[in-house]
Amino acid sequence: MDQNSPEVITAIQAAIKAATLCERIRMDLAAGGTLLKSDRSPVTIADFGSQAIICKMIREKFPHDVIVAEEDSKELRRPDHSKILERVADYVNAFNPTSSSEEVCSWIDFGSNSITDRFWALDPIDGTKGFLRGDQYAIALALIEKGRVKLGVLACPNLYTDIHHPSGGKGCLFLALKGQGSFQMESAGINTRPIFVSKAKIPSEAIITESVEPDHADHLTHQRLANKLNISKPSLRMDSQAKYGILARGEVTLYLRVPSSSEPGYKENIWDHAAGSIIAEEAGGRVTDVLGRPLDFSSGIKMEKNQGVLVSNGILHEVVLKALEM
Ligand code: AMP
Ligand code: MG
Repeated sequence: MDQNSPEVITAIQAAIKAATLCERIRMDLAAGGTLLKSDRSPVTIADFGSQAIICKMIREKFPHDVIVAEEDSKELRRPDHSKILERVADYVNAFNPTSSSEEVCSWIDFGSNSITDRFWALDPIDGTKGFLRGDQYAIALALIEKGRVKLGVLACPNLYTDIHHPSGGKGCLFLALKGQGSFQMESAGINTRPIFVSKAKIPSEAIITESVEPDHADHLTHQRLANKLNISKPSLRMDSQAKYGILARGEVTLYLRVPSSSEPGYKENIWDHAAGSIIAEEAGGRVTDVLGRPLDFSSGIKMEKNQGVLVSNGILHEVVLKALEM
């Protein structure tokens, strides 16, 4: 597989379309029209719309591929949700002009939750809380073969192309191919450039990124680890797999995800890490759980064999794992 393979072209095109749909919904939400922040309908509409578009495109090109995705249309088909379904179909119609509500539901239902030898893992909107807050969110799509991620695409429509130069604008698309590196493009899929992790060798130089939501990761343990390693720069809190993207391009050094004390036994979903992990690894980084084990994308939709996640620039991985033993 290379950058011109049908898998890569389809994944990029699908992510671009889904990101455009999500941004339209977010703009309508910000404009204060009929989409209300007080309920979850905007994120529901974007979630279903994004999944419909991506599943349709993958199924058309690869009719035999399984797509493991978060949503199905059961809820959406309920009579009391007919208004929401109408809105989903309206937004999807901008990309597929004659699509009916029934068709949209059938595309959503291309998603399944059975793991096979070759499958796609999709998070149609990762970081829903960030989406509603107007912060970071991502559309995450990965191709997994025999338990290994071969291709990852991550659209981050609200992420600066360079955190240190906001004038460069927002909207990034990350791409990684096994054995071939990681790349960043602008939202439209243009201006591709290779990206690399930070070269920081001393823990005290590191910058940590972590979830915004305290229920998703244990901020207190992260702070303790920072103290232990003499990391003085404040952690960068960010929603979604955009964290993998900023680590892959060297803006942060460590992504910590120690399970939150509110749910210590939490098992991560494969679609929350598959695309991000290959983007970090192919940029020179290392990804394991907090005990140093490789992430397991082969057992089911949950990473049952793992506990939390640790992503680093590679160089600092062992020293952080050691410090996590505290
Ligand atoms: P983030 O934006 O990095 O905080 O991650 C968002 C993802 O966290 C969502 O897609 C959820 O699947 C996942 N999530 C939900 N509950 C938890 C939890 N208790 N611990 C870790 N992750 C969670
Ligand atoms: Mg998610």
